[in-house]
Amino acid sequence: MSTADVRKDWDTYFMDIAYMVSTRSRCSRRHVGAVLVQGKKLLGTAYNGAPMGVPDCSEAGCMISEEYELVVTDGQEEMVKKQRCIRTIHAEQNLLLFTDRIDREGSSVYVTDEPCWTCSNMLANSGITEIVFHRPYPKDTGKVTNMMKQKGITFRQLGNYQPPRETMMTVSD
Ligand SMILES: [Zn+2]
Ligand SMILES: [Zn+2]
Repeated sequence: MSTADVRKDWDTYFMDIAYMVSTRSRCSRRHVGAVLVQGKKLLGTAYNGAPMGVPDCSEAGCMISEEYELVVTDGQEEMVKKQRCIRTIHAEQNLLLFTDRIDREGSSVYVTDEPCWTCSNMLANSGITEIVFHRPYPKDTGKVTNMMKQKGITFRQLGNYQPPRETMMTVSD
């Protein structure tokens, strides 16, 4: 089979777009992209960033918050101090701010990273019925998965997926 015969499936197609969108992010710690898809139509794109007109991470530096977080390694629970940038509005939240409710009803969200608890909570109330993500974010997986089940929202990770090479940016974490 020549490469010309390889047509991208829809999951790959929309996740590739989410990764392209993520390259717009100016946060050096995390580049997240999200797209809204109704049927096979692209109805919105968003990435994580500071509010418009406010200096972003590349201009003002990341706004670091430290918090302790429960990490389970081989059954051992441990409180680990983590640093996060809180300057940005998360991609999923920006997607909700810049799309209409009617466009979200019954729609899917493709997002490069597994949504955090707050974003998941908001997405669960936004009208969408499916969330597809690529990179795992284990911190909130347990409670997020549980809630999605309660809400009847399909929540799935894209396995065997390779992001477009040009969207891979070096991030410090
Ligand atoms: Zn930042
Ligand atoms: Zn989030």
